[in-house]
Amino acid sequence: MALVPGSSKEAAATGLFGPYLLSEYEINHNLVGGDNGVYALGFTGKDGVFYIDRVGRSEKNLVDTLKKYEGMYKEFKFKFYETERACFDKECELFHAFTPRDNIAHPKAPKGIRLKCPVCGL
Ligand SMILES: [Zn+2]
Repeated sequence: MALVPGSSKEAAATGLFGPYLLSEYEINHNLVGGDNGVYALGFTGKDGVFYIDRVGRSEKNLVDTLKKYEGMYKEFKFKFYETERACFDKECELFHAFTPRDNIAHPKAPKGIRLKCPVCGL
């Protein structure tokens, strides 16, 4: 796997839907039928590969969370998950797989739940 400085190349499949343009219209249009979810923010390079600059999760409202990033990133990918645990597991998986440049710290477990990262055990 060749690493590109700056952004993390999506060499492996994220398992997320998208990419979509990070705009209010696209967010409203595509995020239907869920609340909790995981997202990846970045852009599609000239090589057609999605470069991930940030990953995260929302335990309440993924639509609102993504709208906060409008104007800061070009595109997004996402997927809804039923449980906080599923969101956390997926966020950790993406964090370790892509080490996005804007994720300075390891994802934090949901408040009030004792969960360990499925990848590093933190
Ligand atoms: Zn970890």
